[in-house]
Amino acid sequence: MLPQGLNFYITALKTCVSIHHLHQLHAHILKTHVSKNVFLLTRLAHAYLNLNHPNIGQIFVTSIIKTPPLFLWNETIKCYAKNGCYKQSIDLYYDMLCNGYKPNAFTFTFVLPACAALKSLSDARRVHKDVLVFGCEDNEFVITALIDVYGKCGEVGVARQLFDEMSVKKTPSCNALMAGFVLDEKFEDVLLLFNEMKKVGIECDTTTMVSVLQSCASLGALQQGRWVHERVIRTRMGVNVYLGAALINMYAKCGSINEARTVFEKMGQKDVIVWTAIICGYGMHGLAHISESLFLEMVNNGLKPDAVTFVGVLAGFSHNGMVEKGWVYFNKMSIEFGVKPVLEHYSCMVDMLGRAGRLNEAENLVINMNVKPDSKIWVGLLNACKIHKNVELAERVVNRILELDPKNAGSHVLMSNIYANAGKWDYVAKTRRNMKDKKLEKLPGWSSIEVAGRVHTFLAFDQSHSRAKEIYEYLMDVKERMRIEGYVPETGVVFEKVDDEMKEEMLYSHSERLAIVFGMISTSDNDVLRVMKNLRVCVDCHNVIKFISRFSCREIIVRDAKRFHHFKDGACSCGDYW
Ligand code: ZN
Ligand code: ZN
Repeated sequence: MLPQGLNFYITALKTCVSIHHLHQLHAHILKTHVSKNVFLLTRLAHAYLNLNHPNIGQIFVTSIIKTPPLFLWNETIKCYAKNGCYKQSIDLYYDMLCNGYKPNAFTFTFVLPACAALKSLSDARRVHKDVLVFGCEDNEFVITALIDVYGKCGEVGVARQLFDEMSVKKTPSCNALMAGFVLDEKFEDVLLLFNEMKKVGIECDTTTMVSVLQSCASLGALQQGRWVHERVIRTRMGVNVYLGAALINMYAKCGSINEARTVFEKMGQKDVIVWTAIICGYGMHGLAHISESLFLEMVNNGLKPDAVTFVGVLAGFSHNGMVEKGWVYFNKMSIEFGVKPVLEHYSCMVDMLGRAGRLNEAENLVINMNVKPDSKIWVGLLNACKIHKNVELAERVVNRILELDPKNAGSHVLMSNIYANAGKWDYVAKTRRNMKDKKLEKLPGWSSIEVAGRVHTFLAFDQSHSRAKEIYEYLMDVKERMRIEGYVPETGVVFEKVDDEMKEEMLYSHSERLAIVFGMISTSDNDVLRVMKNLRVCVDCHNVIKFISRFSCREIIVRDAKRFHHFKDGACSCGDYW
């Protein structure tokens, strides 16, 4: 039989919805003869946890209740993690072990997400050991949490192994592994896993689809992305804002901004994530006026833009050289919308100023900005130095880069290109030697194109494709045709001290040309060609592609490391400004 009054308090605690009320109740309990009742104290602690006060929960488990039940430790660990106090969550877990408690499966599924949020591999490994010690290695929820944490900590190989060893694989474990693949940029593996799920009949949910669409976007796999979209419609999967944004992003990144717009228009409820996706889409396509007008419409609808929205808008201005507009929005961001500029915004500004030739302004911005610069932002400026042939500033900038990232191969390559452009061949040789001494390798350029649902990837001088012979023959035809029409190769972009004929040969095998020619010989005449390139397109390739778009009457869309180029009738949407 329960002591008198206890029932009253238990019921009161269950219905308590405000912290103020709970404090009153607590004070009341302390004055009564049931104030030491463990059952009641446990309920009281739980009430605090329900109202998101893990710190008070902790006082109960560590000092007020002599032998608190395991579930209360678990709930407190969970509550800390839920409220973003990951460190405290993990510390309490260790505290619990020190107090002689044996964790159970719940404990692990609560503490592992905290390790994942902090990307703490050392904690994840310790907890993993405990999972084995306390015999929870067969629990699917625990293993799923482990796959998730290893994926987030960059150990996707371990995650894969755990996944492979699972006897029964379900949607959550597949999703956890996929998320790990996405973070590790193993996009092909995401698509393979997705196909495997379909084959063995594991249900795909919106989380699965978001990862798959992200992968299609990164690979430029438009046909597969469309197919996923059809499947979403067919299976009547509810399109939430994340899935909607992922679809918009996929279409935009695969070069089909119109389809992105259609998805956007069809979305019933649009929140900031969805608006931001379409604004960024237009931004990366260099359609700054549309991205700006969508931005204004969004604000008119009473939504508050976030940091990502501004990255999209600024990128659009940057691609169009709209520097004054860029400054207006950059200042507006913090003053009107309370969004503090972070590295991405500064990067956009530096890119924008640098490309417009305002190099000193760009340098001053990096030096005076209130966040710590990374090597990437300086590389952006170095690129501008290359475009505007400023050797002196480039030398200053490259030193900054190497201070931050001594193994940055890209900056060595850029610097040697800048020297080559200025005819300083001694310095070119010195930079190259420097690279060799440091054992740095240039990031190889590659381009990919999707044909009949398969992504084909080409490196420069690539001979490995099964149709390589035809590709090179066709390339020779194109070259001949261009020569007849008076095309002069831009050999200045070959940064080697070789003769012009040799330079032309080197240009001829740039990966984007191989991908485009392969597209031309394997699709029908009026198909749009969509090519992805990991680096920036060089001036000569840009000229050649304009040329090809004219004589073949083909629309060619190229996504390079920075933006989209739509080639049509011999012109490019970037207006030769990139
Ligand atoms: Zn090229
Ligand atoms: Zn272009």
